[in-house]
Amino acid sequence: MIPFNKPYIAKNEFDYIRQAVESSHTAGDGVFTKKCNQFLESTFNVPKALLTTNCTHALEMAALLLDLKDGDEVITPSFTFVSTVNAFALRGARPRFVDIRPDTLNIDEKLIESAINSRTKAIFVMHYAGVGCEMDEILRIARKHGLPVVEDNAHGLFGKYKGQYLGTFGQIATQSFHETKNFSCGEGGALLINDPSYAERAEIIREKGTNRSRFFRGQIDKYTWVDVGSSYLPSEILAGVLFSHFEEADFIQNKRKQVWETYQKHLQGWADENDVCLPFIPDYCEQSYHMFYMLMPDLDTRGAFIQFLKSRDILSVFHYVPLHTADMGRIYGYQAGDLPNTETYSDRLVRLPFYNSLSDDEQSRVIQAVLDFKV
Ligand SMILES: *Cc1c(COP(=O)(O)O)cnc(C)c1O
Repeated sequence: MIPFNKPYIAKNEFDYIRQAVESSHTAGDGVFTKKCNQFLESTFNVPKALLTTNCTHALEMAALLLDLKDGDEVITPSFTFVSTVNAFALRGARPRFVDIRPDTLNIDEKLIESAINSRTKAIFVMHYAGVGCEMDEILRIARKHGLPVVEDNAHGLFGKYKGQYLGTFGQIATQSFHETKNFSCGEGGALLINDPSYAERAEIIREKGTNRSRFFRGQIDKYTWVDVGSSYLPSEILAGVLFSHFEEADFIQNKRKQVWETYQKHLQGWADENDVCLPFIPDYCEQSYHMFYMLMPDLDTRGAFIQFLKSRDILSVFHYVPLHTADMGRIYGYQAGDLPNTETYSDRLVRLPFYNSLSDDEQSRVIQAVLDFKV
């Protein structure tokens, strides 16, 4: 069986787990957490990066930092992972869903301005498949209306828009190190703070609402409860695992680029003949090589395709079920038909096996199976 995803084991992974355990500091914010934060800050030129327990929690921190609350609205795509929206829904803010572009499947920037009203308090974007949203236009609209931008960059580490790294455009950005992402420690995430005015409060929120981080830096002589907060620190054991993956960043990104390009090279002709679309990458975007997806002609064909691959012992998957047509979306007053592109592309999309250790033989088997499928 060729799985859809397989977690990668880095060379130093077990060694760092052992070091973390033996260091007598297995809780958060030890040596490995600092190394991970520094890696993110220096590689992506981010003023402050904080490792978190996962991307979901980093998004929740963003909603807390922006003081989103009951009565507020947030502009967001419906074609995204549920955490993008839960983050502010938990605070009582309502999603204002905007449809996606048919080419990159990112939020359609042309539809954002008409969705803004006096209750709008933020714009949450998600760079689908690590291909950048139209950030020039999104930032222009955000500045014009005085709205902060949060980037859910769970797919997009190392992706670039017009030469600039994704995750460095919004006031705040979030990363995921879940086992399905390019870099992983099982469960993990990070908050990237591009507007330094959020930095001190982010540390406090992450440390149960206390100023413990300032205490450890010797800036105050005892720490105390100063704000709301929760516990968003990953263990040093997980930070060690993540750092072992970061150390192999060049290898991992090159390998994923090669897997992606091999799929594209061998499947483009078949796709053209069978009315299937392969991913579109604008020439000013550098993608992160997070996934390889295809858009089948319709829902039935996609179902038949997934079954066909399964009969060849290959797992392929689809996502995202639009949030606006889910039970919760209906509670917010949305219904099927409201966001036509989101609904169509969600029905048609399928993702092929894609992981750091995918072998040439495995990939050849996947490609042959796809070529054998008759639309
Ligand atoms: C994976 C993912 C998340 C959630 O990440 P976790 O680290 O599992 O919390 C959020 N948003 C998007 C777009 C994702 O793909």
